[in-house]
Formats: sequence, C-alpha cells, structure tokens
Amino acid sequence: MRASQLFFPTLRELPSEAEVISHQLLLRAGFIRKTASGIYSYLPLAMRVLQKIERIVREEMDKAGGQEVGLPIVQPAELWQQSGRWAVYGDEMFRLTDRHDRWYALGPTHEEVITTLVDENINSYRDLPLLLYQIQNKYRDEIRPRFGLMRGREFIMKDMYSFDLDSDGLAESYRKMYSAYRAIYERMSLDFRVVEADSGAIGGNESHEFMVLAETGESLIVYCDQCEYAANVEKAPCILPEAVPEHREELPLEKIPTPNLRTIQDLVEFLQQPATNYIKTLMLRADDELIAVLVRGDRELNLLKLQHALGCAVLDMAEESAVRKLVAAGFGSLGAVGLPVKIYADQEVMRMKNMACGANEDDYHFINVNVGRDFTPHQVVDVRDAVEGDLCPQCSQPLKVMRGVEVGHIFKLGTKYSEALDARYTDQQGQAQNIVMGCYGIGISRTMAAAVEQNYDENGIIWPLPIAPYQIIVTPVNVKNDEQRAAAEKIYADLLDAGYEVILDDRDERAGVKFKDADLIGIPVRVTIGPKSLQENCVEMKKRWENENTLVPLKDLSAALKEVFVPK
Ligand code: ATP
Ligand code: MG
Repeated sequence: MRASQLFFPTLRELPSEAEVISHQLLLRAGFIRKTASGIYSYLPLAMRVLQKIERIVREEMDKAGGQEVGLPIVQPAELWQQSGRWAVYGDEMFRLTDRHDRWYALGPTHEEVITTLVDENINSYRDLPLLLYQIQNKYRDEIRPRFGLMRGREFIMKDMYSFDLDSDGLAESYRKMYSAYRAIYERMSLDFRVVEADSGAIGGNESHEFMVLAETGESLIVYCDQCEYAANVEKAPCILPEAVPEHREELPLEKIPTPNLRTIQDLVEFLQQPATNYIKTLMLRADDELIAVLVRGDRELNLLKLQHALGCAVLDMAEESAVRKLVAAGFGSLGAVGLPVKIYADQEVMRMKNMACGANEDDYHFINVNVGRDFTPHQVVDVRDAVEGDLCPQCSQPLKVMRGVEVGHIFKLGTKYSEALDARYTDQQGQAQNIVMGCYGIGISRTMAAAVEQNYDENGIIWPLPIAPYQIIVTPVNVKNDEQRAAAEKIYADLLDAGYEVILDDRDERAGVKFKDADLIGIPVRVTIGPKSLQENCVEMKKRWENENTLVPLKDLSAALKEVFVPK
C-alpha cells in the first residue's frame, strides 16, 4: 500500500472527548471515527487489525471443533418472550417494529436464536455435541457508552454456543474453549489473566473472564501471587484477615444534630471520624420487599453478591418516597438503629465498634452505635467487592489488586435456555432430555482497543506483531530524490514479493512528518532510505519498540526482517 493512497486521516490535536489512551490513539492515528454515541466507523487500518484478530479467533475456534454460522441481527420478539428475556433485558436492548407493527430486537446476544435453530434441526443424541460460532455486530444500548471501542453500542463479537448431551459433555466443551481462549490471547501477544467471574444475568454456574491487563481497564481483579487464584472483585469471596482484638469499651449511644450533612464525606469532616467508622445504610427493593443493607462507610455494595445472598429475582435501589413512608428520613440520614425492615449486614460491620450512622430522622446521626446492643441484623452476608489485603480463598495469603479489560467471557449455561425454549434431544433409551449448553464470547473490537491500551508510548501505538495492520513501512527520506525513490520502490516490491505486508511512504512530506506518522499508527518495523545509508548500500531499520536505528546492509535486510517476524 502506498501511503499517498492510504485513507488514514491522522489528527494533530488530541480529541477532547477521548478519555482513555486507546480511544485517543485510535482516533488520532486515523483508525476509527465516531458516527454516533458508542457507534464507530472503522477505517482501513482498523479493518486490517480487526481482520487479523478475527482470523486468529476463527482458526482457534475451528481447531477446537467449532463451525461458523451466520445468525440474524434482527430477531423476532417472540423468541425473547419465550425465554422470558424480552421483559427483563431492559433498556439495553434496541427494539424496533416492522411495517406490520411486529416487534424485533437488534441482537445483543444470540442464545434465543441459536437454541431454537438447533432444537428445530436436531433430534437424537447422535446429533450432539455441537459447537457453533459466529463473528458479527452486536447491539446493546449501553447506559454509558464510553472509552471508544471499549464500551460501544454497536460492537463486534465472536459468540460461540456449545450443545451437549450432559454436564460431562459441557465440561469438555468448556475445557476446550478455555484452552482455545488462552491460545487466542497468547497468539495475539497480549498480557492477560484468566479470572473467575460472576455469571451475572445470563445465569449458569461456572464462568471465567479473560482480562487484558491495563491500568485503565474498567475491571478490577484480585489475584494471589502465591498461587494461581485470580477473580473479578465482584466475584471473589471476601475472607477477612484475622480480627485484631478490640479492647475499646462500648460507649453510650448519642444522637447528634447534623444539619444538611448527607454524605459520608460531609460527616467525616463534621464528626472528625474516619469513613471506616461509619455504617453506610442502603435501602433496596428485593422482589417487592424493602430491605436494608449495611456496609462499612468506605466500601461499595456489590449488588450481584447481595442478589446471590438473597436469592431474589429482581433487586433494585429503593425509591426515596417508599423509604419516607417507613421512617422520617431520606437516604442521607438512614441508619441501623430502629429500622423497621430486615437488615442484612456485611460481615465487616460485625467487627466494628462505636460506629456512626444516620438516626432515621432527617439531619440527625447516631454515634457510638454497637451491634447486638443497638441493632441486630437479620443476616450477616458478604456483600462488598473484594479488596487488596482480603485473604486468598485458596491459600489464605493476602490478595493484590490490578486492573484489566474484559475481552472474553465464557459461561456454563446448563439447561437454562433449553428448558425455557424447550430444546431437547432423544437419548439412547428414547427419553427426551434437555440439551446442556455453554456460551463463549470475545469482544473483537474491544480486543483491538485493549491491545492499544497495553501497547503504546508517547509517540503512538506499538502494535503487537500478530495484529499490526501492516508489518513494515518503507520510508524514503526524500521522494524527490530519484535514487532514493528508486531504491525505496525496489525494496517495497521485494518485500511484497517476500510476502510481507508493507506500506511505502511515497508522500512528498518532510522525513520528520513521515516518521511521526509511522510511529503514531504503530507499524512494527520502519525501513528508512536516506542519502547516507544509500552511499554505504545500506538501509536504516528501526523497531517501533526500540529507540535506536540500526544500519543494515541491503543484502542482510531479508535476514534481519526474518529475525523479527518469523517465530523461532
Ligand atoms: P461488560 O461486563 O463489559 O458489560 P458483558 O459481561 O456484558 O461485558 P458479554 O455479554 O459476556 O459481556 O459479552 C462478551 C464479550 O463482548 C465481553 O467479554 C466483551 O469483550 C465484549 N463486550 C460486551 N459489551 C461490549 C460493549 N458494549 N462494547 C464492546 N465490547 C463489548
Ligand atoms: Mg454488559
């Protein structure tokens, strides 16, 4: 490809809406452009990266026994009504009607479509197992589309579904996918970690996430450096270090006026007590029952854990008006003492003494609140995210925390969808049995962003070799110089013949501009032809991740490139 013809509109200015590196660099380097919030156009360089990622994914899916299918993006509402998800998927689903007022969804995922397809076209145990996958756009009207390709409303996903006779079969399919996913991220040369994950709204009972490690990742991971354990903080059980013996006496309960002080931060300043001494009291609605949950003032409530602990189908924050019907207080003045609903206390709260919390009366707080004396929880639960210093559930060493981008997610679904959609096969005894399923997703477009998030410097992107849009950029310093231009053309043609993916920067620009662009778009190797190198029958070779140029005799260029690109 000649740079003079390549459509890569680079930007000099940093786009203001781009908060994370991958978003900034993909815009600046002319890979993507925003068409609408969370909806992007991919320009030619991006398409090449995406196709390389897809190729690696396809090869590994096929190797694991997968077969590619193409399922519709426009999906009839009836399928979703049958599974029950039309009602519960909520605003994240794009919905539309046709001219006959029939409802459809733009596919956010494909369990409904594929389960129905398989059910209608298999009969016997002999037809299973099946591993079917596709790579296509998915549509999710995310509440906060952000970070460019990281959280789009239209994005590319590989979704695979496994159909097995029984749970042993599912375990085997799951194991195959687990290995295939590892192979995929290894082949892309990305630094990643596999973590135990919550299976969330999809249901099922086992799930792993594949995280590309990056400081800007949206996901927090706890991991143990003494053993292999790693988990999403949402999922990891919180195992508290041994309690330090408490010798403080329980002080008398006191009610303090706290006019207009509603947040923990307000109270920390006013009462001069650290946030760790507060009880955060949250009111929720669990399947129509109002409940209260207590967590330490500096902690965040983990809704998924709470939902598992309660075993409820629907869980939401309560409306303030409903709370006011119970007590004379709004959200900022709620507390554990005398609250007329079931109280669920995080295990950490049980260790606290002489705590502060709202008095269930606007503008008043209690201090010196003690569990047992002033309130008794209905149940003690583990409902906060894991944090640094919690103990490893496998080996009891203190856990550490790091950030990652979730690029892949695998689930055991079991019979959740086959039951809902009545998808069955006939077993050897002639009995009808539910098909046992798994589902396995990879965010293709998110993976491209994650790769940038992990591989860049102040000059631009540094693509990992296996997914770089082009491998080599050949740059004559001055295209007006006949000798340089001819030499560059010859090298370009030779490299193409040798099977490399090459850009020839034939633009009539200053060398500095061309070098800057080559760095920005992240091409792994730059071969520069200048007057000095030509005199010595050499070229300059520079690897994107190194600072120095090396002078390479023309006759050794092929060997030097092999060194970089051909795996040993
Ligand atoms: P998240 O927790 O980030 O919303 P998810 O659990 O909803 O992800 P899945 O339904 O498991 O995601 O989808 C499979 C993969 O698709 C994810 O691992 C992720 O890589 C990708 N993905 C999901 N949502 C988006 C999105 N809005 N934009 C880009 N990629 C996405
Ligand atoms: Mg999501």
